[in-house]
Amino acid sequence: DIELSEHVEFKDMCLTSRVLEGLNDAGFVRPSPVQLRSIPVGRCGLDMIVQAKSGTGKTCVYCVTALENMNLDIKTLQVLVICPTREIAMQGADVMRSIGKKIENLHCHTFIGGLPVQEDRKKLEACRIAIGTPGRIKQLIEEKALITDHIRIFILDEADKLIEDFLDSINWIYSCLPKTKQMIALSATFPESMTKSVKNFMSTPTAIRLNSTDPALLGIRQYYEKLERYPLDQQNFIAKICCLISILEKIAFQQCLIFSNNQSKAEAFAKYLTNKGWPATHISGSLNQDNRISAISQLQKFECRILVTTDLTARGIDAQNVNLVVNLDIPKDHETYLHRIGRAGRFGSYGAAISIVLEGNETSQLLKFSQISQSEINRLPDPIPENLA
Ligand code: ADP
Ligand code: MG
Repeated sequence: DIELSEHVEFKDMCLTSRVLEGLNDAGFVRPSPVQLRSIPVGRCGLDMIVQAKSGTGKTCVYCVTALENMNLDIKTLQVLVICPTREIAMQGADVMRSIGKKIENLHCHTFIGGLPVQEDRKKLEACRIAIGTPGRIKQLIEEKALITDHIRIFILDEADKLIEDFLDSINWIYSCLPKTKQMIALSATFPESMTKSVKNFMSTPTAIRLNSTDPALLGIRQYYEKLERYPLDQQNFIAKICCLISILEKIAFQQCLIFSNNQSKAEAFAKYLTNKGWPATHISGSLNQDNRISAISQLQKFECRILVTTDLTARGIDAQNVNLVVNLDIPKDHETYLHRIGRAGRFGSYGAAISIVLEGNETSQLLKFSQISQSEINRLPDPIPENLA
């Protein structure tokens, strides 16, 4: 799915040696197509809308652009990145620090809800790059702890989601920024209306869209399993989980992400799986922030193989060994479906996505998603081959 250019390496892209060294130390030698197309535009200081499939390296696009365009003489805050979830913000900061590790006094910090705000105020005394979630950033600006006067680069990661869920805060934050600045909006999905809203923030943006007609990843095979519908929710819950367990037993997967639409169900699914001999962790907005951080870090360090989650982690989360995604509930729209299945198949790797649906509504909903994204979702083969993922 990702064709790394055979000829171009980051060292051919006229980057500063400090950024280049950071990239190489992080193991990034050749740019992905979206990086090859966007980084030169970003370095010119142009506003841009970047749309490329999940897992193709959009974080590195905004990090390299920000690091190259920073004014190293300015010691105050100059880069502001907004993300829709706390976990995406933390991950973005990790990438920024790793690519920026050759820049002295980088001072890149995260500002997210659920953690003590006093510490944020302290971090802001020396902060040049702030990465955070809308609510906390807004609060810190209101308190005048976060000074916006010298912000020259403003980045919206998962921009469509930010506009869908946090438009008022984003508008307000935007109104506090200097007039002259570079703005970058990134996502795998930009529904028409979102593109319009994003453009309102920008002056003549350059749009860089890769494969916008078919945002599903080629590396991910999509399947569904249709179950008979029972009258009681509890019966359907059990039927789905039995089906899930038989899938986990048959497929040789590395790590698996299981999506449910609601918090208490996610927790219940995880408990049930664990009791049945499939140790599973769960994450949702109902956990406190320390537990949320620990769940993601367990996944990324391969300390857990199965994570049951709500749409909290449908976007952005990058765990390279996830090669199986199971939908126990059908997501609310096809964008969310694409983001969920995009958790497998990071950076061109392969994976499988399986949706377990009840006959009727859920099935027709899923088939609609497949039509919209013009990608095939096939019945799960019987018997299930071990090498499906
Ligand atoms: P996106 O935001 O587009 O979904 P990410 O920025 O999370 O994707 O990147 C997905 C994965 O690809 C990450 O694990 C990242 O380390 C890896 N990656 C990104 N760019 C490169 C590159 N040029 N070479 C190798 N790996 C890369
Ligand atoms: Mg991303």
